[in-house]
Amino acid sequence: MTYITAALRREVIERANNCCEYCRVSQHDRVMPYEVDHVIAEKHGGVTTTDNLCWSCYLCNGYKGSDIGSVDWDGSGKLTPLFNPRQQQWPEHFMLDTTTAYLQPITPEGRVTVFLLRLNSDEHIISRRLLMQLGLYPCQSPG
Ligand SMILES: [Zn+2]
Repeated sequence: MTYITAALRREVIERANNCCEYCRVSQHDRVMPYEVDHVIAEKHGGVTTTDNLCWSCYLCNGYKGSDIGSVDWDGSGKLTPLFNPRQQQWPEHFMLDTTTAYLQPITPEGRVTVFLLRLNSDEHIISRRLLMQLGLYPCQSPG
């Protein structure tokens, strides 16, 4: 695992406005510290540069691990890449149901990301509902 400098870490955090780039919850609203994630893991040849790094909460990063895709069981059944926050725009892949706090995937990449990162787990839904009531979700980050 490559060492991530403090300057690079700061750049990743500022670009994300301290929001998890997968589930869109702010670090300010979670106790456990967030992590710099290699979008394409080093084991797959991903490099430690800003265009391959993102800011991720411990839940998303924990479920993602070094994975870069999954099977689109609700769609084609084919191996499909995960949402890439460096190359894709979040609102084009996910839609928030403001009544249920459910994240509705819009694309195959959105579907496999919701599935693999368990973005609609009870923990995520309960947290999103509370943050929405407080006007703190979704966290405002570019993209
Ligand atoms: Zn997250």
